[in-house]
Amino acid sequence: MVAVRQTMIPRFNYSYSLRDTWDCITGQLFNKKPNASYLNDLFPGADIYFVDSARVGIKYALLAFDLKPGAQIGIQPYTCSSVLAAIAAANCKPVFIDINEQLSLDYDDLQRKLPGLDALIVTHTFGIPAHITQIKQLSGQLPVIEDCAHAFHSRYEGVHVGNFFDAAVFSFGNGKFPSVGSGGLLVINRKKSSERVGAVLGKLKSSGLIRELTFAGRRFINALIHTRVGESMLYYLLNENFLSSKSQQLSGYPTHERQPYRSVGYAMQRQFTELKSMSIKQRENARYLIDGHNRHYKMLANVDDTGNSFAVVLLSQRRNELYSFLRKKGVGAGKHFQHAKSWAMQFGYQQGECPNFEQIVGEVLTIPCHYGLIQSDLRKIDQHLTDFAQTNKSML
Ligand SMILES: *Cc1c(COP(=O)(O)O)cnc(C)c1O
Repeated sequence: MVAVRQTMIPRFNYSYSLRDTWDCITGQLFNKKPNASYLNDLFPGADIYFVDSARVGIKYALLAFDLKPGAQIGIQPYTCSSVLAAIAAANCKPVFIDINEQLSLDYDDLQRKLPGLDALIVTHTFGIPAHITQIKQLSGQLPVIEDCAHAFHSRYEGVHVGNFFDAAVFSFGNGKFPSVGSGGLLVINRKKSSERVGAVLGKLKSSGLIRELTFAGRRFINALIHTRVGESMLYYLLNENFLSSKSQQLSGYPTHERQPYRSVGYAMQRQFTELKSMSIKQRENARYLIDGHNRHYKMLANVDDTGNSFAVVLLSQRRNELYSFLRKKGVGAGKHFQHAKSWAMQFGYQQGECPNFEQIVGEVLTIPCHYGLIQSDLRKIDQHLTDFAQTNKSML
């Protein structure tokens, strides 16, 4: 048996509580229909659909646009492979657009490639909104989807993201915020596209009692695996190569599309009023770490003080060393989307196509700031960042 000397601060919040499990059971027993009307406040005037995952939402948003087969979809290569899989599932092709230092669409490259596009996906990476005003000026009538998988509760000029373009998706999947087990939202702001999509989504197969209960059980176990003790066991038991090769695998499109689990609707409904204070907590954690360390490290800051902070993002030439150092010290740092180039290549990305991306993808390190952190976690992260900066001065 491995002696776990210290625990690992989890990289993201994967919580799925007994209470969530209980809500699932009672909801099934009483055949409750999850209510989603509370979401209308966030997206006034939109049609809002719960979907089984954000990737399903992206496919259906593309279908809503009635594009020709093989349509060209602008997308940044620094994203989740599931987005590329969703583009392919909608019978479309990605056109890769380079990123800027905020990890969102690069204005000049977008301008260059825009004439060839049939639709565009704008990603608010790590909850930091893309430059929406600039993109709107360029995109004109082009149909646009906002990928808000990291950006629930993020705002741009005071308005919740997801309200700015034709459609938007959110993810509640593994480690995303809010943490309700799985699923996501598809928000359609262009009403005339919405009816058909609603009809098709409504006809997907729903999960029965057994599948719902199995889901809640599995989510509960997954949450245990991603506790401090669980994550440190993984760290000691599995080696880095194994973990890296696992994260290299493409995250595909589901072979059977389904309705979202009802349990996700219950958990959202119950947590909804607490989400505000949870995102404030994440933001304060992020601010504390950024203010304490942005003299030594290049760190991305959310310009909107009311936005969500999905993770603290640091760019460093010594990313890999800092990563190993922090993991060894029990800080669940992450090399987020580290395999994005090899994912993109499987969807037609050519070497050299997006030079900023190729440079930055090797430098991104995420540091936890989720609402599950306690004061001593923050002090610990603080201390280890200081230690690394002191021993490696000038070379960060
Ligand atoms: C996780 C993620 C998705 C996909 O979300 P699912 O709900 O797992 O389909 C899409 N875009 C980005 C940027 C993501 O990180």
